[in-house]
Amino acid sequence: MSTISWAEVGRLLEDAARTRRGVILSTHVSPDGDGLGSELALWHHLGGRGIVARIINNDPVHRKYQFLPGSDRVEVYDAGVHRAAVVDADLFFVLDNSSPDRLGRVLEPARASRARKICIDHHVTTDPFWDINCIDVDAPASGQLVYELIKALGGTITGDMAQALYVAYVTDTGHFRFSKTTARVHRIIGELMDTGAIDPPKIYRALFEGVSPGINRLIAAALADTHYEYDGRFAWARLTSAQLMPNGGPDEDTGDLVNMLLSVEGVLAAALIKEVDASRSKVSLRSLGNVDIHALAARLGGGGHRNASGASMSVPLEEAVRRVVDGMREVLGA
Ligand code: 5GP
Ligand code: MN
Repeated sequence: MSTISWAEVGRLLEDAARTRRGVILSTHVSPDGDGLGSELALWHHLGGRGIVARIINNDPVHRKYQFLPGSDRVEVYDAGVHRAAVVDADLFFVLDNSSPDRLGRVLEPARASRARKICIDHHVTTDPFWDINCIDVDAPASGQLVYELIKALGGTITGDMAQALYVAYVTDTGHFRFSKTTARVHRIIGELMDTGAIDPPKIYRALFEGVSPGINRLIAAALADTHYEYDGRFAWARLTSAQLMPNGGPDEDTGDLVNMLLSVEGVLAAALIKEVDASRSKVSLRSLGNVDIHALAARLGGGGHRNASGASMSVPLEEAVRRVVDGMREVLGA
């Protein structure tokens, strides 16, 4: 259990239910299953309490999450349509994201907003931007914090919430294989499955299969070009925008590619570096056990967790590769 006190959030929500003022939910750019699942679970809970909330994100719902009930209600930020709603809201929840800049275009109205800003997250970073921080870095997924909030407020987990929370867990635990997958996680999953709404093979297929032939070729090309450094303790690969553009672009999911780099014997840290365009790159970092790559990600302008971090860098691909390879020398004490 986290040590977060949910009472204050509960009081704010009681006020919101009474005054019927605006409640906005948002997450990070390119929402993943944890960001979206956390938003949707909370949204369903609020709806059940008569609180009309809106989910407003920088980016649309990726097609693989579109089976989730309520995902068709997620709105993509458009200043003309949404700015006033965000500025005038009473409560602004951000899920699975503590870095204000990762709100994307939603940052500007959030900054101008009079709303109390509540951050529910499991990342290491905190920011004075948020009025209330509900953060537990030991939580395997932000969805678990939403589960705890719903429970603390006396709510019931419905089938719709269960699906959203299940997607949050499987996304961030690598299907229950990462180190924060505790017995309690499995007990909570049992409770989610008891709703009868979870079909594991169907959800697995939706999230992790059904990729295009192009993506598999891309993964093959990246793996064929794996580089090893520091006595084989660091593995990295890159994807150019010429490779990425015909296959959904740099934001397209390349699945477990970075984890495959990490799966080689002796490798303790791995990086996948993607070229966004001629002057921008994106890096995904993964590590094992006590090898902490969060500080490196932060130095590169990003963030994340001890064993899974990332950064968007305003430098060309080759310069990004150089900075990542150099930075990893220090991480590994090489
Ligand atoms: P991924 O490699 O899957 O894109 O991201 C892994 C982790 O790093 C996620 O927890 C994500 O929140 C974090 N991360 C990825 N990119 C960025 C970034 O540009 N900024 C920050 N602050 N965190 C990032
Ligand atoms: Mn997460």
